[in-house]
Order: sequence, then C-alpha cells, then structure tokens
Amino acid sequence: MSYTAAGALHMHTFFSDGTGSVQDLVRAAKESGLHWIWITDHDDLRAKPQEGYHDGLLVLVGYEITPRRNHYLVGDTNEIISRELPPAGYIDAVRAQGALGIIAHPDERVVNEYTEGYEWEDWSLRGFDGIELWNYMSDWIQHYTPLMKYRNFFLPRFALAGPTAKTLAWWDGLQVEGARPSGVFGVDAHAHRVHRLGREWTVYPYRHCFDRLTNYLQLDSPLSRDFDVAAAQVWAALRAGRNIMANRIHGEATHATFEARNRAGDAVTCGQELPLGDGVTLNFTAPRPAELRLIRNGETVATTPQQQALRFDAHLTGHYRVEAWRGSQLWLMTNHVHVV
Ligand SMILES: [Zn+2]
Ligand SMILES: [Zn+2]
Repeated sequence: MSYTAAGALHMHTFFSDGTGSVQDLVRAAKESGLHWIWITDHDDLRAKPQEGYHDGLLVLVGYEITPRRNHYLVGDTNEIISRELPPAGYIDAVRAQGALGIIAHPDERVVNEYTEGYEWEDWSLRGFDGIELWNYMSDWIQHYTPLMKYRNFFLPRFALAGPTAKTLAWWDGLQVEGARPSGVFGVDAHAHRVHRLGREWTVYPYRHCFDRLTNYLQLDSPLSRDFDVAAAQVWAALRAGRNIMANRIHGEATHATFEARNRAGDAVTCGQELPLGDGVTLNFTAPRPAELRLIRNGETVATTPQQQALRFDAHLTGHYRVEAWRGSQLWLMTNHVHVV
C-alpha cells in the first residue's frame, strides 16, 4: 500500500528574483491542491524561519546554487555552500553535509532575451542525488521566439516540449552505470512581472506553474502531521526516486500507480529494488487512458494504445520506468524500478 503526496519544487520568492512572499506561495499551492512545496531562492535561506506547516501545507526551504551556469538545487540543509566553488566542489560539499543535491535544468542551451543558456556543462560529474528532468520556465524560454511570444504566453501548452532526449538518455544511462540519480519535475516559478500591451502581466503566476509540473511522492505511510517527520519523508522520497512526475495540464495523477511484484510476493514501487528471481510482473495504472510506454535501460520494450493499464512480465534484470502520453505530449513519467 502506498500513499501519494503531491508537491512542487524549485521556486523563487522575493528573497531572490521572484515577486511573491512565502504566504503567496502557500496560497497558490493550496489552491492547486498540493501537499508540499520546496522553496529554492538563489544562494539564499532567508525563508528558512518560515519552514513548517502553513494552513495544512508542508513548506520546505532549501536554495539554488546559482553561478553563471551549473545551477544546483539543495535541500535538507541549514547551511549555504558557496557558488564560488567549481560544480564538483559543491556537489561534494552538499553530499558531505548529508543534504540533498539535484541538478537544475541541465539541458537549457538556447540564448535569448530571457536566458543566457544556464546549462549544466560537465555531464561526466557524479555524486548528485537527482536530475530536474523537466523545468517549466526553462522549457517555455527555450521555445521563445519574438514571433511565438504571445501565442506561447496565452497558450502555454503549445510551448511545452517536455524533457529533452539528451537528458533522458543521460538519466537512463546513469541507472545502468549504477549511480541511480532520481528524477524530478521543477516549476522554477518566479511570478515575473512584465509590462506589455499597455498593462502589467505576471509570467507565469505561481498558481499557473503549480497546476502544471507536479511530483507525486509514493510513501509507505501518509504524510505526517509532524513537521520533522514529514520533511524526512519528502527528502527520502525525492532522494530515492519514489516519485511519479506529471504534467497536470492533462490531468491529476493521485491515483497513478507503478508496482513491481516477484513470484515470492514481494512488491515495490519506483525508486526501489526487487530481485528478479523467477520473474517480475510490472503493473502501471493511470487515472485516464493514455498511450503507455515501458522503458528498460533507455529502450522502449512495450507500448499500449490508449489504455489505463500496462502489465509486463519481466524476465531480465534492468531499470524499468513508464511514460504516459496524451497525443503528442508527455503526461506522466515514473522513476525507475530496479530489477536486480
Ligand atoms: Zn536556475
Ligand atoms: Zn531557479
């Protein structure tokens, strides 16, 4: 039995270059139906005293290490690591603290009026806990062109491409290699204010971002009402990859499940390991029909047309994950189940 806790991560308040307060984020996240948020201002922990439960919403505060390039999300910590270190230096320092480190928007390469291309440069580095596979703001900015600007603003669903093939190939390859970083979706919400067409607009409001990219953590017990226990549950699930990620433009995923069960009756979900023994059955269920794809070690091994369930008998060890597609867009993506 697993319990889901929906939440968003990677967001900025007015302590860095966002426009809202912690309370603004809380209000937006509550309206969006989330259970937890993780705030990540740039090299700044001033929101830390506001960590805790706010109106039933779990608020966690970390930060984003933000040099010119190579941004790194840090959680489960009270201490800022210097952005003056090289990336290998802050990866190691975060790890030495026992904190959680996630590479932010690794494949952001386009340069335009909103970005100088904040990519992750050295993909041979190791020691991080996770990868932000899909960054909402980054995806939008990558597809920005002067011509498409207004269409993309008013109809953002057309501007979204999803995780890049390069990022996914890296993530899958790291599982095979044994590093096993987890995957997350990040909103990178700022609620930027701009003046265009004779009025002030917010690009994009916090609520808008929260309604898009969501992490559904798969927990053994409900999210605790005790702050310290709940925080430990969220950090552990993010670290392990006990997470089904969703683009909620295509629907909620509270009831999406991914389970692997062997002949001995042992069952696990994504982010966990299961011995192959005499064979493992993988079961994925989605809350509405979608095209489902099962991927092993980066290769698609099974697909369904529009369906709500995918069942697969695995006779090989490997790192298995599922994608659910609605039309040409990615809706759900699980982390890997490790069959060993
Ligand atoms: Zn960043
Ligand atoms: Zn950011």
